[in-house]
Amino acid sequence: MTDPSTAIGILSSLLGLAKSINDTVTDSKTLAATIELQEKIRELNSAILQMQDDHQSLLDEKNSIKEELSNRINWDKTASKCKTHQICSGVTVIIENDDTSSEKDPVYFCPNCFSNQKLSFLNKIKKDYKGTHYACVNSICAQVFTDHDCKVPFKGASYG
Ligand SMILES: [Zn+2]
Repeated sequence: MTDPSTAIGILSSLLGLAKSINDTVTDSKTLAATIELQEKIRELNSAILQMQDDHQSLLDEKNSIKEELSNRINWDKTASKCKTHQICSGVTVIIENDDTSSEKDPVYFCPNCFSNQKLSFLNKIKKDYKGTHYACVNSICAQVFTDHDCKVPFKGASYG
């Protein structure tokens, strides 16, 4: 692909050439013709400058699409290694397909972040009589998920 600046360089020397012809001719017809020629060269010059801008915009657009595509491909690769997992009735998180974590320390990922093409860990924050609470490590999301099946038995009425 030829760089538009090459064409602009050629036009610049054409303009110089037309100007030196203009400086040496004396008959009015040739003079008028070279003035018109200079004018046309200037028009061509601005048309090429516009093309250069368009060319740059297309290049920028191409690069951003390329980056988007590459991010998308990377995400698809990550997403294909994960699946949804119901930790208790009504609460779904994301786990890896080949998840080998123990029941005591499961590795969960946030389903909210996952739907936004982000893989964020869920940190176990506490376990009480309501269940085990996990919070998304992504501070923008920070969603809390509770595993209601995994809780400390309520001992309020116990005297043992
Ligand atoms: Zn999240």
